[in-house]
Amino acid sequence: MPLTFGVMKLNTILENWENTPKMPVLFLGHGSPMNAVAENEFVQGFRKVSAEIETPKAIIVISAHWETKGTQVTAMENPRTIHDFGGFPKELYEIRYPAPGLPQLAKDIKSMSANTDVLLDEKWGLDHGAWTVIRHMYPKANIPVIQLSLDYNKNPKQHFEFARQLHQLRNKGILLVGSGNMVHNLRMVSWQKLNENFGYDWAIEANEKMKQFILEGNCQALINYSKQGNAFNLSIPTPEHYLPLLYALALCDINEEVKIFNDEPVAGSLTMTSVKIGN
Ligand code: ZN
Repeated sequence: MPLTFGVMKLNTILENWENTPKMPVLFLGHGSPMNAVAENEFVQGFRKVSAEIETPKAIIVISAHWETKGTQVTAMENPRTIHDFGGFPKELYEIRYPAPGLPQLAKDIKSMSANTDVLLDEKWGLDHGAWTVIRHMYPKANIPVIQLSLDYNKNPKQHFEFARQLHQLRNKGILLVGSGNMVHNLRMVSWQKLNENFGYDWAIEANEKMKQFILEGNCQALINYSKQGNAFNLSIPTPEHYLPLLYALALCDINEEVKIFNDEPVAGSLTMTSVKIGN
């Protein structure tokens, strides 16, 4: 092992993994934690998209459910399954998704990130934003999964710019997944239509507009979501379920194919609309 001025040269994934054809990037609407055990059109959509793409060497998830002060990345060998929800049936709490971690990838993300001091985390694991969807895509849990947190001190533009720095990972067989919901207002949920593909007018309006911006490549409008009017304000009362979309879009290249799937509202105030960027 060569030593340079006493600093050991790191064996990084970026240096040592073969280049691959560019991996797609996903934004997945995760919805209710019950989707982890459900058999419905949405989990079928998750399975279908995983069958369409090359098996990744590792997965990085940006989940709505991990917000931190500063940016963190999970760096443990064996992330635990986190049941970060309350009031659901016992079977949901018994699920484990024992995918390994990949500490070296966490270290690489830290070293790739200019202007952001990414902290290596040993305590988190896989929250339900990650495992409830990934388990449908890769049920064997044999692909390493790490999570990248959402820094609640960053504004949308800063999130977008930070995410762009991860682009080269797409050429290393790594699948980047944003997991949230484009429209997500739990206070406005229709309890009578909890399991129906029903959306309030404002939810449909915002969702349609978001899709239009995505397909036009108008990331600026999506970064400036707070200036898009009342339907957007109702659809994004807090940013954490929306921001993973910006991570996915930041990794999109000009003229890249963008496909929308699972495009349905549920319970009035959520949409499951998901996005696949690239092939
Ligand atoms: Zn959620």
